[in-house]
Amino acid sequence: MTRPLIAGGDCYDVVAIGAGPANLSLAALANTLPELRLLVLESQPTPGWHRGLLPAGAKLQVSPLKDLVSVVDPTNRFSFLNFLALHGRLYRSFIAHRSAVSRHEFIQYYAWVARSLPSVRFGAKVTDVSHDGQSFVVTSANGQRHRSNHVVCGVGASPHVPACALPHLSETLLHSSRYSELVRDLEGRSVVVVGGGQSSAEIVSDILCGEVGWPSQLTWLTSRSGFKPLDDSAFTNELFNPRHTEFFSRLDEAVREDLLRSDLLASDGISEELLQQIYERLYFQDYLTDRPIPYELLTSTRLVDIAPRGDGYRATVSSRLNRTRREIDSDVVVLATGYRHCVPGFLQGLLDQDQRSAAPPIAEDYSLRLDTVKPGRIFVQNAARTTHGLADSNLAVVPWRSAVILNSILEREHFATARGDIAQDLTP
Ligand SMILES: Cc1cc2nc3c(=O)[nH]c(=O)nc-3n(C[C@H](O)[C@H](O)[C@H](O)COP(=O)(O)OP(=O)(O)OC[C@H]3O[C@@H](n4cnc5c(N)ncnc54)[C@H](O)[C@@H]3O)c2cc1C
Repeated sequence: MTRPLIAGGDCYDVVAIGAGPANLSLAALANTLPELRLLVLESQPTPGWHRGLLPAGAKLQVSPLKDLVSVVDPTNRFSFLNFLALHGRLYRSFIAHRSAVSRHEFIQYYAWVARSLPSVRFGAKVTDVSHDGQSFVVTSANGQRHRSNHVVCGVGASPHVPACALPHLSETLLHSSRYSELVRDLEGRSVVVVGGGQSSAEIVSDILCGEVGWPSQLTWLTSRSGFKPLDDSAFTNELFNPRHTEFFSRLDEAVREDLLRSDLLASDGISEELLQQIYERLYFQDYLTDRPIPYELLTSTRLVDIAPRGDGYRATVSSRLNRTRREIDSDVVVLATGYRHCVPGFLQGLLDQDQRSAAPPIAEDYSLRLDTVKPGRIFVQNAARTTHGLADSNLAVVPWRSAVILNSILEREHFATARGDIAQDLTP
């Protein structure tokens, strides 16, 4: 690892921005490397993981063994198993977690890791990253400046809102990332849920069990041809094997785009357990209750426009099958329309004109190819789906990607990232 020639001051080998699972994993793995000076800056005042969408029954979509460290360093003290053991829950959790672990419990686990790591600082929103010719200078909204050899950007993805809805966002027309915060009482109100992924299904399931009162009408619409399950089968799961990530990142751009489209349901589908639960709740509504919620499930249907109308909204939707349009009036609209990656504002000053409009290319070790910034590198976590594959936005790849980044910073293979094989033949 090359040391900078910087005298004194608040200087680090790595400043990591954001303390979500990606950079918590980096910090937990780096905790075994006393020679590495690492600082993690997190904008939120306290630990939290997607609290804005947290229905009571929310489940983790991966095995809890895919925690922050285990697949790279199973002896690391920040494993989920060790969290359970230290909190006296091991035996009971084996019985409770027959299918999947609750997201509430992973929030507790992540918070325990964050609070246990001396490198993590909360309430530090990064507003600017510059380079003074020697090192990066990372500035936070609280006025603090830190110098660093390298930067690891782990700020996650931003909620995506369709353009037609952007001007009207409010407490009753909202993105799914704010559902648990804003939707408290739907009693007697009509609601439209837009989207066909896991978030939309979690919201529909929550509404159907009466957690937020009984709405007068529920409409769930997706542009997909159905409410599609997550493909969690054995060979598809090899997409989340590091060997597949390496293979994918070496393919031509057009081939990668094609694979991303065809494999989408390995990542963006709805868990089968949740689909079954929703189906059972609809059956209850149809045959087993005196006060059923009128509902409508619309597939192959796209939201094309939305405007305020009275105290609610009028949504215009279009069928992809026959191009016909219709209007749906409702009191509340929840947009479970996903997340998008964009280059964070605080990095813009380091990019040239072209790189601002089209993000800079990402190398195999997750560093940005920025010839203009030297010495040092900027690494990105969870921003490389187009170059590294669907696994990039999944928790499964988190420890391995952190280990690849740390190896690259250390300039040696400290973590055995190349170990482990794959069943399928990956010769292009
Ligand atoms: C509701 C939900 C549930 C999910 N469940 C699963 C699952 O079960 N399994 C799975 O594989 N994937 C899941 N995902 C997908 C993905 O794994 C998660 O989004 C994961 O949180 C990504 O981790 P991250 O660290 O990259 O980003 P995030 O978790 O988004 O963390 C980014 C952090 O950066 C901070 N930050 C942002 N800007 C700044 C700044 N300027 N300065 C300092 N800090 C900043 C944020 O406050 C945040 O804490 C889920 C996604 C969502 C939305």
